[in-house]
Amino acid sequence: MAERWGGQFGPYRAHPAHRVGSEAFAEAFGRLAKRMDDNYPFFHPRYAGQMVKPPHPAAVVGYLTAMLFNPNNHAAEGGPATTEMEKEAVADLAAMFGLPAHVGHLTTSGTMANLEALYVARQVHPGRGVAFSSECHYTHERMCHVLGMEGHRVPADGHGRIDLGALEEALRGGRIGTVVVTTGTTGLGTVDPVHEVLELARRYGARVHVDAAYGGFYAILGRAGLGGLDPRPWRAIAACDSVVVDPHKHGLQPYGCGAVLFPDPRAGRHFAHDSPYTYFTDSDLHLGEISLECSRAGAAAAALWLTLQLLPLTREGFGRILSANRRAALAWADLLRTSPDLRLYQSPDLDIVTYFPTPPVEPSAALTLSAVDAASQRLLRAGMDATQDPVFLSVLRAEAAAFTARHPDVAADAPAARIVRSVLIKPESEHYLPTLHSRITELAASGAQHAPGAAA
Ligand SMILES: *Cc1c(COP(=O)(O)O)cnc(C)c1O
Repeated sequence: MAERWGGQFGPYRAHPAHRVGSEAFAEAFGRLAKRMDDNYPFFHPRYAGQMVKPPHPAAVVGYLTAMLFNPNNHAAEGGPATTEMEKEAVADLAAMFGLPAHVGHLTTSGTMANLEALYVARQVHPGRGVAFSSECHYTHERMCHVLGMEGHRVPADGHGRIDLGALEEALRGGRIGTVVVTTGTTGLGTVDPVHEVLELARRYGARVHVDAAYGGFYAILGRAGLGGLDPRPWRAIAACDSVVVDPHKHGLQPYGCGAVLFPDPRAGRHFAHDSPYTYFTDSDLHLGEISLECSRAGAAAAALWLTLQLLPLTREGFGRILSANRRAALAWADLLRTSPDLRLYQSPDLDIVTYFPTPPVEPSAALTLSAVDAASQRLLRAGMDATQDPVFLSVLRAEAAAFTARHPDVAADAPAARIVRSVLIKPESEHYLPTLHSRITELAASGAQHAPGAAA
């Protein structure tokens, strides 16, 4: 297709400096393919660890097709077609959050998208800081350093949500210009009460930024109150000042696709620059005029655009994927609640399930954080190292206070314990769940027998 299109520009001679022999290519490619064996099976439901899955075939085809043209969405003349696709895909994301108007664009990551949102926070309230919860992504604290802003860490409540009392205490000091809320924390998948934070922040003249990098696509279910989700936080997003979502997490995109959106289009003025390299080819909006990043893959926009043509951001489109993830998480939580070998850490708000093995203890002795920590790590290793029937999980560090608030019967003999965390980001998890649960149970039970000091 790129060749058919290219033909209209007339013949030219290819330069020999690019030429490689087909045998040399085949040999080098063979080595690449071999090296790719050293990977985890992200596509398979027996991988139930981090928030990773392969892109949709439509995203792959969209990406590869546009990549042959190599458009750069920094400027409209870098890629007119993919610039239009980016604007349409971003408008779809804005509609998903119910934004009445917006300015926004894709980024290479959630990190960059959050940096842009905090940069605007600094421009709007110079000299004022940012409040974020202890469960928010570590990028916020780091980006406050980058931007020279004061970061205020607010404790989380017993479910991992930002503590409203502590937040009000911090807001009262008058030094906070923007509050960060998270709809789906990276660790526990907890949804902050956006509606309550918004009301509180407005009372103290502060802005609200929503980090929906991981959970954002759940707005499709959340705004409609589906999947057992409380609609209030999801509906409040439209009244906040900025929101970030990562299509490279739930959005079936390859890495290199985040997005930042501002419901007030006037936010775009904070990005004004006057570069001698880029110029307006028309009076239209320049994506480079509203972002901090310069070169950006137009192919990422094409991939997202093509995906959204086939799987729209509706109940019937992406909603079916998210509903299956959610059902899997709720069903697993139910199985864990009655398991003798594993215990649910807390009820899942979205599709992240957290749990820990419960190795047997001597009668009258208490289960300890250090025993939970060792058993979680043992389960992780046993699952990954199994040559037959492996499972791939991830671990999460839980501080002693947070842990014992949820499980007061566990003795805090250590400052923290690792627990096990499974992000059920693939709809295939729903049907695979009985197999996954029984295999993890088996590994937890056999690990307990071999644990040093375990009761016989
Ligand atoms: C993943 C994530 C980020 C960081 O995004 P990257 O795309 O990994 O740079 C920020 N915030 C939250 C809540 C996330 O889940």
